Amino acid sequence: MSTVFDVPQATVPIHGSGDTFPARRIYCVGRNYAAHAREMGFDPDRDPPFFFCKPADALLYCPPGETADMPYPSRTENLHHEIELVVAIGGTGRDVAVADANALVFGYAVGLDMTRRDLQVAMRDKGRPWEAGKAFDWSAPIGPIHRVEDTGIVESGEIEVSVNGEVRQKSDLTHLIWSIPEVIANLSTLFELKPGDIIYTGTPEGVGAVQRGDVMTGRAAGVGEIRVRMV
Ligand code: MN
Repeated sequence: MSTVFDVPQATVPIHGSGDTFPARRIYCVGRNYAAHAREMGFDPDRDPPFFFCKPADALLYCPPGETADMPYPSRTENLHHEIELVVAIGGTGRDVAVADANALVFGYAVGLDMTRRDLQVAMRDKGRPWEAGKAFDWSAPIGPIHRVEDTGIVESGEIEVSVNGEVRQKSDLTHLIWSIPEVIANLSTLFELKPGDIIYTGTPEGVGAVQRGDVMTGRAAGVGEIRVRMV
């Protein structure tokens, strides 16, 4: 048997090596910082975090020290940045206990959950799926994955994005509603986690629009910096 098409496997380079991380699924956490939940009009005490997905080929790799070009997507007039810490999964697990969750972590990266906010809110308000707002082509810029052996377990540290040099979002991972082990444990009750899974862990307050020509510079907890220009 032979395949009728060659479809490339989405991969993310691993920092400090010639190796790549093969992307299987991208899970994203919604409303995982209280101040962001509030700015979106929700009560973080009554509306706990939840999950949505992007396809693996939505990844846009951003090499360190370079500015990656992201095509401004179609059918939106309100494209938002969401800076996020990204967790790369290197093990298999289902119904994982919080205490065991960090054992599944392969590494960490910094990423942007780019969002067509106008479409997402329209879909949300009609009770429709979010894919048009969240899962479009190149909606997941990401830097190289830093192995946990190099970083240690990441639990705290600044997360920040600036646009054209002006800080727009700035917080600390200690403000996550669900910690990273809690995210992994909860997600694993819904889906069996496998090597290659990637989790965008949520964004702090300060989300806002970018236009063509804008340059976003994002960093999180010392796992690198990404720079993305809207084109
Ligand atoms: Mn997000």
